[in-house]
Amino acid sequence: MVDRYDIAIVGGGLTGTAFALALKHTPYRVALVEPRPPQEPTADWDPRVYAYSPGNVDWLRGLGGWAEPVRAQAIHGMRIFGDHGGKLAFDALETGLPELAWIAENGRLQSALWQAAGQAANIGVIAGQPESVVWGEGRHALVLADGRRIEADLLVGADGASSWLRDQAGIGYTIKDQHQAGVVANFETERPHRGIAWQWFRQDSVLAYLPLPGRRISIVWSTHEDAVPERMARSAEEFATDVAEAGHHALGSLRRITPQAAFPLKIRRAREWVRPGLVLIGDAAHTVHPLAGQGVNLGFRDCRLLAEMLATGGNPGEIGRLQAYAVRRMEDVASMQFTTGGLKSLFTNPDPLLRSLRNTGLGLTNSQDWLKQALMRHAVQ
Ligand SMILES: Cc1cc2nc3c(=O)[nH]c(=O)nc-3n(C[C@H](O)[C@H](O)[C@H](O)COP(=O)(O)OP(=O)(O)OC[C@H]3O[C@@H](n4cnc5c(N)ncnc54)[C@H](O)[C@@H]3O)c2cc1C
Repeated sequence: MVDRYDIAIVGGGLTGTAFALALKHTPYRVALVEPRPPQEPTADWDPRVYAYSPGNVDWLRGLGGWAEPVRAQAIHGMRIFGDHGGKLAFDALETGLPELAWIAENGRLQSALWQAAGQAANIGVIAGQPESVVWGEGRHALVLADGRRIEADLLVGADGASSWLRDQAGIGYTIKDQHQAGVVANFETERPHRGIAWQWFRQDSVLAYLPLPGRRISIVWSTHEDAVPERMARSAEEFATDVAEAGHHALGSLRRITPQAAFPLKIRRAREWVRPGLVLIGDAAHTVHPLAGQGVNLGFRDCRLLAEMLATGGNPGEIGRLQAYAVRRMEDVASMQFTTGGLKSLFTNPDPLLRSLRNTGLGLTNSQDWLKQALMRHAVQ
């Protein structure tokens, strides 16, 4: 059986589903192919929790994708601490913004996006496993495990950091493996968080507290991969004590509400993002260190620009427009990879001079309003 579409998106994670939705008012027929569609959310909290920039949340709201069943918490302030007295604080009120970011669970946002995409007349949501690609001159074809064949002028790789479509196209990637991993878990807190996010740069790790609705937080503790088995083996009580101590009891004592989960952290960039009839977006094209909470935000900004550039119609696989898209996205991604990778290296370096400099640097940044405003302007897009 052959199904013909203009655009076929491989991967229905946050990036792929949001991109499909962003095409709902275009004349294109869009297929969204995902082997593991999101489950109905339960009342339990998802350990995968991300920070979303206000610019991206506005965009998702406009698409109808920031809706039930999303549970979101606004961040009104951020407190960042160095490992030797350095401190940097951001407050939404100071910057004239209603909030600095939003925190929400991955699973619930994916469900909301998936539901909205399923209601759009021009989007075909397909639960299926792609098995091979037939590369053509004008259009390409995805062959699914159940024998279905999906032909499209443009294939979009939104299938994550280990992208299958990228491999099928033979596109390599650069990888910076700093042997880091992130351990995540959710907690109830003794004291209210008041919409404040916290981050501690420690010499051996970076710990973030992200506020969730109610008296709850999600944490991301990124550290050397050798330290992960020990953190994963800690009991609920032991881990809650470790996290409360590492966070200087900023929110009092903690009670763990989801078990620890660990993710390897590798900074990757695909060597090519576009080819005739092919584009990679989100983690399939690039990943960043999670310390700035910007991975999915970069992916959404890919979607926003690509959808805007495709809105004029015409052949979506035409290489000139895809190349123009890639050039325009490169700077945002490169600067985020450089900044987060550099910060992480700076804070894990044991040199005492660097230790003093990095802490002074946080204090200096804190005292320079223009610099804080510039940093915020980039982060809220
Ligand atoms: C510990 C940690 C904390 C993070 N915190 C943040 C944060 O606070 N803020 C932030 O912005 N980002 C954060 N990130 C990054 C964020 O997780 C990713 O950037 C984001 O999930 C990427 O979305 P994606 O849709 O591109 O890829 P994915 O979420 O990986 O989705 C890929 C989709 O493709 C599907 N798929 C896989 N293989 C195939 C195939 N062969 N065919 C079809 N479909 C396939 C998968 O089932 C999945 O649904 C964090 C990452 C980590 C590891």
